[in-house]
Amino acid sequence: MTAVSEIVLPITFESLGLAAPILEAIKAAGYTEPTPVQARAVPEAIKGRDLLVSSQTGSGKTAAFMLPALQKLTQQHEKPGRGPRILVLTPTRELAVQVTKAADTYGRNLRVKTLSVVGGMPYPLQNRMLKNGVDILVATPGRMLDQMNSGRIDLSRLQFLVLDEADRMLDMGFKDDLEAILAKVPKTRQTMLFSATIEPGIVRLASSFLRDPLRIAVDTAQTRHVNISQRLHFADDMGHKNRMLDNILKGTDLHQAIVFTSTKRSADQLAQTLHIAGHSAAAMHGDMNQGARNRTLQALRRGGLKVLVATDVAARGIDVQGISHVINYDLPTQAEDYVHRIGRTGRAGRSGTAISFANVRDHHMVRSIERFTTQKIEVAVILGLEPKMRPFLKPAPRGTKPGGGKSYARPAQRGAHRSAARTSPYPR
Ligand code: ADP
Ligand code: MG
Repeated sequence: MTAVSEIVLPITFESLGLAAPILEAIKAAGYTEPTPVQARAVPEAIKGRDLLVSSQTGSGKTAAFMLPALQKLTQQHEKPGRGPRILVLTPTRELAVQVTKAADTYGRNLRVKTLSVVGGMPYPLQNRMLKNGVDILVATPGRMLDQMNSGRIDLSRLQFLVLDEADRMLDMGFKDDLEAILAKVPKTRQTMLFSATIEPGIVRLASSFLRDPLRIAVDTAQTRHVNISQRLHFADDMGHKNRMLDNILKGTDLHQAIVFTSTKRSADQLAQTLHIAGHSAAAMHGDMNQGARNRTLQALRRGGLKVLVATDVAARGIDVQGISHVINYDLPTQAEDYVHRIGRTGRAGRSGTAISFANVRDHHMVRSIERFTTQKIEVAVILGLEPKMRPFLKPAPRGTKPGGGKSYARPAQRGAHRSAARTSPYPR
Protein backbone atom coordinates (compact mmCIF):
# COMPACT_ATOMS: atom_id res chain seq x y z
CA MET A 1 0.00 0.00 0.00
CA THR A 2 2.80 2.36 0.88
CA ALA A 3 4.43 1.75 -2.47
CA VAL A 4 1.25 2.64 -4.33
CA SER A 5 0.72 5.84 -2.42
CA GLU A 6 4.32 6.83 -3.10
CA ILE A 7 3.86 6.39 -6.83
CA VAL A 8 0.79 8.59 -7.00
CA LEU A 9 2.22 11.37 -4.82
CA PRO A 10 1.44 14.79 -6.27
CA ILE A 11 4.64 16.64 -6.97
CA THR A 12 3.55 20.11 -7.98
CA PHE A 13 1.83 22.69 -5.83
CA GLU A 14 -0.85 22.93 -8.54
CA SER A 15 -1.79 19.30 -7.98
CA LEU A 16 -2.35 19.70 -4.24
CA GLY A 17 -5.79 21.27 -4.57
CA LEU A 18 -4.93 24.82 -3.52
CA ALA A 19 -6.72 27.94 -4.76
CA ALA A 20 -5.02 30.23 -7.29
CA PRO A 21 -4.28 33.13 -4.89
CA ILE A 22 -2.47 30.72 -2.57
CA LEU A 23 -0.50 29.21 -5.45
CA GLU A 24 0.56 32.71 -6.49
CA ALA A 25 1.75 33.50 -2.99
CA ILE A 26 3.76 30.27 -2.87
CA LYS A 27 5.40 31.21 -6.15
CA ALA A 28 6.18 34.67 -4.84
CA ALA A 29 7.83 33.03 -1.81
CA GLY A 30 10.18 31.35 -4.26
CA TYR A 31 9.04 27.76 -3.67
CA THR A 32 9.12 25.71 -6.84
CA GLU A 33 7.86 22.38 -5.56
CA PRO A 34 6.31 21.04 -2.37
CA THR A 35 8.55 19.33 0.15
CA PRO A 36 7.66 15.66 0.85
CA VAL A 37 5.71 16.53 4.01
CA GLN A 38 3.75 19.19 2.14
CA ALA A 39 3.01 16.82 -0.73
CA ARG A 40 1.62 14.25 1.67
CA ALA A 41 -0.14 16.37 4.28
CA VAL A 42 -1.77 19.15 2.23
CA PRO A 43 -4.18 17.03 0.14
CA GLU A 44 -5.27 15.01 3.19
CA ALA A 45 -5.81 18.15 5.23
CA ILE A 46 -7.87 19.68 2.44
CA LYS A 47 -10.05 16.55 2.49
CA GLY A 48 -10.78 17.37 6.12
CA ARG A 49 -8.77 14.62 7.82
CA ASP A 50 -7.30 14.95 11.30
CA LEU A 51 -3.55 14.49 10.98
CA LEU A 52 -0.61 13.44 13.11
CA VAL A 53 2.49 14.37 11.17
CA SER A 54 6.17 13.89 11.82
CA SER A 55 8.86 15.12 9.48
CA GLN A 56 12.42 16.31 9.89
CA THR A 57 13.28 19.73 11.29
CA GLY A 58 13.45 22.32 8.54
CA SER A 59 11.35 20.26 6.11
CA GLY A 60 8.56 22.82 5.67
CA LYS A 61 5.94 21.70 8.19
CA THR A 62 4.63 25.25 8.65
CA ALA A 63 3.38 25.46 5.09
CA ALA A 64 2.12 21.88 5.36
CA PHE A 65 -0.49 23.03 7.87
CA MET A 66 -0.83 26.68 6.89
CA LEU A 67 -1.65 26.11 3.21
CA PRO A 68 -4.69 23.87 3.86
CA ALA A 69 -5.72 26.24 6.65
CA LEU A 70 -5.70 29.13 4.19
CA GLN A 71 -7.55 27.00 1.67
CA LYS A 72 -10.30 26.62 4.28
CA LEU A 73 -10.51 30.39 4.56
CA THR A 74 -11.23 30.70 0.84
CA GLN A 75 -14.59 29.11 1.59
CA GLN A 76 -17.25 31.28 3.20
CA HIS A 77 -18.08 30.55 6.81
CA GLU A 78 -21.75 30.15 7.61
CA LYS A 79 -21.36 31.97 10.90
CA PRO A 80 -20.56 35.65 10.95
CA GLY A 81 -18.31 36.78 13.77
CA ARG A 82 -14.91 38.03 14.83
CA GLY A 83 -13.43 34.92 16.38
CA PRO A 84 -10.60 32.93 14.76
CA ARG A 85 -11.37 30.20 12.24
CA ILE A 86 -7.84 28.86 12.47
CA LEU A 87 -5.95 28.45 15.74
CA VAL A 88 -2.28 27.45 15.87
CA LEU A 89 -0.70 26.80 19.26
CA THR A 90 3.08 26.89 19.68
CA PRO A 91 5.36 26.43 22.69
CA THR A 92 7.29 29.71 22.39
CA ARG A 93 6.48 33.31 21.60
CA GLU A 94 9.17 33.56 18.95
CA LEU A 95 7.78 30.55 17.12
CA ALA A 96 4.25 31.98 17.28
CA VAL A 97 5.45 35.20 15.68
CA GLN A 98 7.34 33.26 12.99
CA VAL A 99 4.26 31.17 12.17
CA THR A 100 2.13 34.32 11.99
CA LYS A 101 4.58 35.75 9.47
CA ALA A 102 4.35 32.57 7.43
CA ALA A 103 0.54 32.91 7.44
CA ASP A 104 0.94 36.47 6.16
CA THR A 105 3.34 35.32 3.45
CA TYR A 106 1.19 32.45 2.17
CA GLY A 107 -2.05 34.41 2.68
CA ARG A 108 -0.91 37.65 1.09
CA ASN A 109 -3.41 37.41 -1.78
CA LEU A 110 -6.34 36.55 0.46
CA ARG A 111 -8.11 38.96 2.73
CA VAL A 112 -7.19 37.28 5.99
CA LYS A 113 -6.48 38.78 9.36
CA THR A 114 -3.67 37.12 11.25
CA LEU A 115 -2.68 37.78 14.82
CA SER A 116 -0.21 36.47 17.40
CA VAL A 117 -1.42 36.29 20.96
CA VAL A 118 1.63 35.68 23.12
CA GLY A 119 2.86 36.52 26.57
CA GLY A 120 5.05 39.57 27.04
CA MET A 121 2.91 41.61 24.65
CA PRO A 122 1.12 44.64 26.17
CA TYR A 123 -2.55 43.87 26.86
CA PRO A 124 -4.18 47.08 25.60
CA LEU A 125 -2.75 46.62 22.10
CA GLN A 126 -3.55 42.90 22.06
CA ASN A 127 -7.09 43.51 23.31
CA ARG A 128 -7.69 46.13 20.63
CA MET A 129 -6.45 43.84 17.89
CA LEU A 130 -8.64 41.00 19.10
CA LYS A 131 -11.62 43.32 19.05
CA ASN A 132 -10.98 44.08 15.39
CA GLY A 133 -11.49 40.43 14.56
CA VAL A 134 -9.12 37.70 13.44
CA ASP A 135 -9.14 34.76 11.02
CA ILE A 136 -5.85 33.09 11.92
CA LEU A 137 -4.74 33.23 15.51
CA VAL A 138 -1.32 31.94 16.50
CA ALA A 139 -0.85 31.74 20.23
CA THR A 140 1.14 30.41 23.16
CA PRO A 141 -1.16 28.49 25.54
CA GLY A 142 -0.79 30.67 28.66
CA ARG A 143 -1.80 33.98 27.10
CA MET A 144 -4.40 32.26 24.93
CA LEU A 145 -6.15 30.86 27.97
CA ASP A 146 -5.85 34.16 29.73
CA GLN A 147 -7.57 35.98 26.85
CA MET A 148 -10.20 33.24 26.54
CA ASN A 149 -11.02 33.54 30.23
CA SER A 150 -11.43 37.29 29.90
CA GLY A 151 -13.96 36.64 27.17
CA ARG A 152 -11.90 38.30 24.44
CA ILE A 153 -11.67 35.28 22.17
CA ASP A 154 -14.80 33.75 20.71
CA LEU A 155 -14.01 30.22 19.57
CA SER A 156 -17.41 29.36 18.14
CA ARG A 157 -16.19 29.83 14.55
CA LEU A 158 -13.11 27.69 15.00
CA GLN A 159 -12.70 25.14 12.18
CA PHE A 160 -9.06 24.24 12.30
CA LEU A 161 -6.76 23.60 15.27
CA VAL A 162 -3.03 23.01 14.85
CA LEU A 163 -0.54 22.03 17.52
CA ASP A 164 2.89 22.87 16.19
CA GLU A 165 5.71 21.11 18.06
CA ALA A 166 2.88 18.85 19.21
CA ASP A 167 4.90 16.58 21.49
CA ARG A 168 6.14 19.61 23.41
CA MET A 169 2.60 20.96 23.65
CA LEU A 170 1.46 17.71 25.24
CA ASP A 171 4.31 17.78 27.77
CA MET A 172 3.65 18.35 31.44
CA GLY A 173 4.49 22.05 31.23
CA PHE A 174 1.63 22.81 28.83
CA LYS A 175 -0.80 19.99 29.52
CA ASP A 176 -3.19 21.78 31.86
CA ASP A 177 -3.45 24.92 29.72
CA LEU A 178 -3.90 22.83 26.63
CA GLU A 179 -6.69 20.74 28.15
CA ALA A 180 -8.48 23.89 29.26
CA ILE A 181 -8.26 25.28 25.72
CA LEU A 182 -9.33 22.00 24.13
CA ALA A 183 -12.40 21.90 26.38
CA LYS A 184 -13.64 25.13 24.76
CA VAL A 185 -13.00 24.54 21.07
CA PRO A 186 -15.89 23.23 18.96
CA LYS A 187 -16.01 19.43 18.63
CA THR A 188 -16.53 19.76 14.90
CA ARG A 189 -13.13 21.31 14.23
CA GLN A 190 -10.35 19.63 12.28
CA THR A 191 -7.18 18.98 14.29
CA MET A 192 -3.60 18.58 13.11
CA LEU A 193 -0.48 17.77 15.09
CA PHE A 194 3.01 18.43 13.73
CA SER A 195 6.50 17.79 15.07
CA ALA A 196 9.86 16.34 14.11
CA THR A 197 9.50 13.95 17.03
CA ILE A 198 6.23 12.10 17.61
CA GLU A 199 6.65 9.06 19.80
CA PRO A 200 4.04 6.31 20.34
CA GLY A 201 3.16 7.81 23.74
CA ILE A 202 2.19 11.05 22.03
CA VAL A 203 0.01 9.21 19.52
CA ARG A 204 -1.87 7.59 22.43
CA LEU A 205 -2.25 10.89 24.29
CA ALA A 206 -3.49 12.66 21.19
CA SER A 207 -6.03 10.05 20.23
CA SER A 208 -8.42 11.42 22.85
CA PHE A 209 -8.90 14.65 20.92
CA LEU A 210 -8.41 13.52 17.33
CA ARG A 211 -11.05 12.01 15.07
CA ASP A 212 -9.84 8.99 13.13
CA PRO A 213 -6.46 10.63 12.55
CA LEU A 214 -4.19 9.83 9.66
CA ARG A 215 -0.60 9.26 10.75
CA ILE A 216 1.93 10.64 8.30
CA ALA A 217 5.58 9.94 9.05
CA VAL A 218 8.09 11.30 6.57
CA ASP A 219 11.35 9.48 7.21
CA THR A 220 11.48 7.79 10.60
CA ALA A 221 10.16 9.27 13.80
CA GLN A 222 13.68 10.28 14.70
CA THR A 223 14.38 11.54 11.20
CA ARG A 224 17.70 10.98 9.59
CA HIS A 225 19.35 14.38 9.49
CA VAL A 226 21.65 13.32 6.68
CA ASN A 227 22.31 16.98 5.91
CA ILE A 228 23.61 17.72 9.41
CA SER A 229 27.06 16.48 10.29
CA GLN A 230 27.29 15.62 13.95
CA ARG A 231 30.27 15.20 16.23
CA LEU A 232 31.11 15.12 19.88
CA HIS A 233 34.07 16.52 21.81
CA PHE A 234 34.95 15.36 25.28
CA ALA A 235 35.49 18.25 27.66
CA ASP A 236 37.58 18.17 30.83
CA ASP A 237 35.99 21.22 32.42
CA MET A 238 34.44 24.60 31.66
CA GLY A 239 37.75 26.15 30.71
CA HIS A 240 38.29 23.40 28.16
CA LYS A 241 34.78 23.88 26.79
CA ASN A 242 35.44 27.61 26.43
CA ARG A 243 38.69 27.07 24.57
CA MET A 244 37.09 24.58 22.19
CA LEU A 245 34.14 26.89 21.65
CA ASP A 246 36.43 29.81 20.86
CA ASN A 247 38.27 27.64 18.36
CA ILE A 248 35.06 26.48 16.67
CA LEU A 249 33.58 29.98 16.52
CA LYS A 250 36.72 31.22 14.77
CA GLY A 251 36.34 28.55 12.08
CA THR A 252 36.07 29.96 8.58
CA ASP A 253 33.17 27.66 7.74
CA LEU A 254 31.06 29.09 10.55
CA HIS A 255 28.50 31.62 9.44
CA GLN A 256 26.17 31.91 12.42
CA ALA A 257 25.78 29.66 15.45
CA ILE A 258 23.39 28.84 18.24
CA VAL A 259 25.13 27.68 21.40
CA PHE A 260 22.84 25.86 23.84
CA THR A 261 23.40 25.96 27.58
CA SER A 262 21.39 24.21 30.26
CA THR A 263 20.54 27.25 32.39
CA LYS A 264 19.53 30.86 31.83
CA ARG A 265 22.38 31.97 34.07
CA SER A 266 25.01 30.10 32.13
CA ALA A 267 23.56 31.47 28.87
CA ASP A 268 24.07 35.00 30.21
CA GLN A 269 27.53 34.24 31.54
CA LEU A 270 28.72 32.50 28.40
CA ALA A 271 27.38 35.27 26.14
CA GLN A 272 29.29 37.73 28.29
CA THR A 273 32.49 35.66 28.12
CA LEU A 274 32.23 35.37 24.34
CA HIS A 275 31.50 39.06 24.00
CA ILE A 276 34.63 39.92 25.99
CA ALA A 277 36.63 37.53 23.82
CA GLY A 278 35.57 39.57 20.81
CA HIS A 279 32.76 37.42 19.41
CA SER A 280 29.49 38.99 18.31
CA ALA A 281 27.35 37.12 20.83
CA ALA A 282 24.14 37.64 22.80
CA ALA A 283 21.97 35.55 25.09
CA MET A 284 18.34 34.52 24.76
CA HIS A 285 16.31 32.86 27.50
CA GLY A 286 12.98 32.96 29.27
CA ASP A 287 13.95 35.43 31.99
CA MET A 288 14.68 38.21 29.52
CA ASN A 289 11.98 40.71 28.75
CA GLN A 290 10.20 40.18 25.47
CA GLY A 291 11.58 43.33 23.88
CA ALA A 292 15.13 42.11 24.40
CA ARG A 293 14.23 38.62 23.16
CA ASN A 294 12.72 40.08 20.00
CA ARG A 295 15.64 42.41 19.34
CA THR A 296 18.14 39.58 19.76
CA LEU A 297 16.33 37.24 17.40
CA GLN A 298 15.86 40.04 14.91
CA ALA A 299 19.61 40.76 14.99
CA LEU A 300 20.28 37.08 14.37
CA ARG A 301 17.87 36.99 11.43
CA ARG A 302 19.40 40.09 9.89
CA GLY A 303 22.91 38.73 10.27
CA GLY A 304 23.98 41.43 12.71
CA LEU A 305 24.58 38.82 15.40
CA LYS A 306 26.85 35.86 14.88
CA VAL A 307 26.39 33.78 18.00
CA LEU A 308 23.19 33.25 19.94
CA VAL A 309 23.70 31.66 23.34
CA ALA A 310 20.35 30.22 24.35
CA THR A 311 18.47 27.82 26.55
CA ASP A 312 15.98 25.37 25.06
CA VAL A 313 13.62 28.30 24.51
CA ALA A 314 15.35 28.52 21.11
CA ALA A 315 15.43 24.76 20.51
CA ARG A 316 12.12 24.43 18.70
CA GLY A 317 10.86 25.75 15.42
CA ILE A 318 13.07 28.81 14.99
CA ASP A 319 13.99 29.13 11.32
CA VAL A 320 17.09 31.22 10.69
CA GLN A 321 18.74 30.18 7.48
CA GLY A 322 22.19 31.60 8.28
CA ILE A 323 22.72 29.17 11.16
CA SER A 324 25.57 26.95 9.99
CA HIS A 325 26.45 25.51 13.41
CA VAL A 326 24.63 24.32 16.49
CA ILE A 327 26.80 23.76 19.53
CA ASN A 328 25.61 21.92 22.59
CA TYR A 329 27.80 23.57 25.21
CA ASP A 330 25.72 21.57 27.68
CA LEU A 331 23.79 18.52 26.55
CA PRO A 332 20.00 18.70 26.71
CA THR A 333 18.18 16.80 29.44
CA GLN A 334 15.83 15.04 27.00
CA ALA A 335 16.94 13.14 23.94
CA GLU A 336 14.25 14.62 21.69
CA ASP A 337 15.52 18.11 22.50
CA TYR A 338 18.82 17.10 20.90
CA VAL A 339 16.98 16.50 17.62
CA HIS A 340 15.22 19.86 17.82
CA ARG A 341 18.36 21.76 18.81
CA ILE A 342 20.50 20.42 15.98
CA GLY A 343 17.57 21.05 13.65
CA ARG A 344 18.16 24.81 13.98
CA THR A 345 20.80 24.27 11.29
CA GLY A 346 20.42 22.51 7.96
CA ARG A 347 17.11 24.25 7.19
CA ALA A 348 15.25 23.58 3.94
CA GLY A 349 17.76 21.03 2.66
CA ARG A 350 20.90 23.07 3.42
CA SER A 351 23.79 21.44 5.22
CA GLY A 352 24.78 22.15 8.79
CA THR A 353 27.12 21.13 11.58
CA ALA A 354 26.14 20.07 15.08
CA ILE A 355 28.81 19.80 17.76
CA SER A 356 28.23 18.57 21.30
CA PHE A 357 30.48 18.87 24.32
CA ALA A 358 30.27 16.05 26.83
CA ASN A 359 31.96 15.52 30.12
CA VAL A 360 32.32 12.54 32.35
CA ARG A 361 28.85 12.88 33.83
CA ASP A 362 27.14 12.91 30.43
CA HIS A 363 27.62 9.25 29.68
CA HIS A 364 23.96 8.26 30.05
CA MET A 365 22.63 11.26 28.17
CA VAL A 366 24.87 10.60 25.18
CA ARG A 367 23.74 6.99 25.12
CA SER A 368 20.13 7.96 25.37
CA ILE A 369 20.50 10.48 22.51
CA GLU A 370 22.17 7.82 20.38
CA ARG A 371 19.41 5.36 21.16
CA PHE A 372 16.76 7.93 20.32
CA THR A 373 18.28 8.99 17.01
CA THR A 374 19.45 5.45 16.27
CA GLN A 375 22.72 7.02 15.20
CA LYS A 376 26.13 7.05 16.77
CA ILE A 377 27.71 10.42 17.27
CA GLU A 378 31.27 10.42 16.11
CA VAL A 379 33.84 11.45 18.71
CA ALA A 380 36.38 13.99 17.51
CA VAL A 381 39.23 16.07 18.87
CA ILE A 382 40.56 19.51 18.05
CA LEU A 383 44.29 19.53 17.51
CA GLY A 384 45.99 21.16 20.47
CA LEU A 385 42.81 20.99 22.53
CA GLU A 386 42.65 17.28 23.16
CA PRO A 387 40.96 16.30 26.41
CA LYS A 388 43.14 15.07 29.24
CA MET A 389 40.48 12.61 30.27
CA ARG A 390 39.10 9.85 28.17
CA PRO A 391 35.71 9.42 29.69
CA PHE A 392 33.81 6.19 29.21
CA LEU A 393 36.37 4.72 26.87
CA LYS A 394 36.81 1.03 27.16
CA PRO A 395 40.43 0.10 27.89
CA ALA A 396 42.24 -0.73 24.67
CA PRO A 397 42.23 -4.43 23.94
CA ARG A 398 45.48 -6.17 24.73
CA GLY A 399 47.97 -6.02 21.97
CA THR A 400 46.68 -2.77 20.45
CA LYS A 401 49.64 -0.89 19.13
CA PRO A 402 50.21 2.56 20.57
CA GLY A 403 49.08 5.06 18.00
CA GLY A 404 47.12 2.33 16.25
CA GLY A 405 43.90 2.81 14.34
CA LYS A 406 41.73 3.05 17.40
CA SER A 407 43.87 5.38 19.45
CA TYR A 408 41.89 8.18 20.88
CA ALA A 409 43.80 11.40 20.37
CA ARG A 410 46.03 10.51 17.55
CA PRO A 411 47.58 13.58 15.95
CA ALA A 412 45.63 14.80 12.98
CA GLN A 413 46.25 17.22 10.21
CA ARG A 414 46.60 20.71 11.50
CA GLY A 415 43.29 22.34 12.32
CA ALA A 416 41.31 19.30 11.34
CA HIS A 417 38.58 17.87 13.52
CA ARG A 418 39.37 14.29 13.23
CA SER A 419 37.30 11.36 14.11
CA ALA A 420 38.80 9.50 17.01
CA ALA A 421 37.03 6.25 16.58
CA ARG A 422 34.80 4.81 13.92
CA THR A 423 32.21 3.77 16.40
CA SER A 424 31.05 5.41 19.58
CA PRO A 425 33.10 4.40 22.58
CA TYR A 426 30.13 4.19 24.88
CA PRO A 427 29.72 0.81 26.44
CA ARG A 428 26.46 -0.70 25.36
P1 ADP B 1 9.84 22.86 9.92
O1 ADP B 1 8.62 23.43 10.60
O2 ADP B 1 9.58 21.55 9.26
O3 ADP B 1 11.04 22.82 10.80
P2 ADP B 1 9.68 25.29 8.36
O4 ADP B 1 8.24 25.25 8.06
O5 ADP B 1 10.15 26.25 9.40
O6 ADP B 1 10.23 23.84 8.71
O7 ADP B 1 10.43 25.56 6.98
C1 ADP B 1 11.84 25.57 6.88
C2 ADP B 1 12.28 26.49 5.77
O8 ADP B 1 11.93 25.93 4.51
C3 ADP B 1 11.61 27.85 5.82
O9 ADP B 1 12.59 28.84 5.64
C4 ADP B 1 10.64 27.83 4.66
O10 ADP B 1 10.48 29.11 4.10
C5 ADP B 1 11.29 26.89 3.68
N1 ADP B 1 10.34 26.16 2.82
C6 ADP B 1 9.17 25.60 3.18
N2 ADP B 1 8.57 24.98 2.15
C7 ADP B 1 9.40 25.13 1.09
C8 ADP B 1 9.33 24.71 -0.29
N3 ADP B 1 8.31 24.01 -0.75
N4 ADP B 1 10.35 25.06 -1.09
C9 ADP B 1 11.41 25.77 -0.62
N5 ADP B 1 11.52 26.20 0.66
C10 ADP B 1 10.54 25.88 1.51
MG1 MG C 1 8.22 24.06 12.51
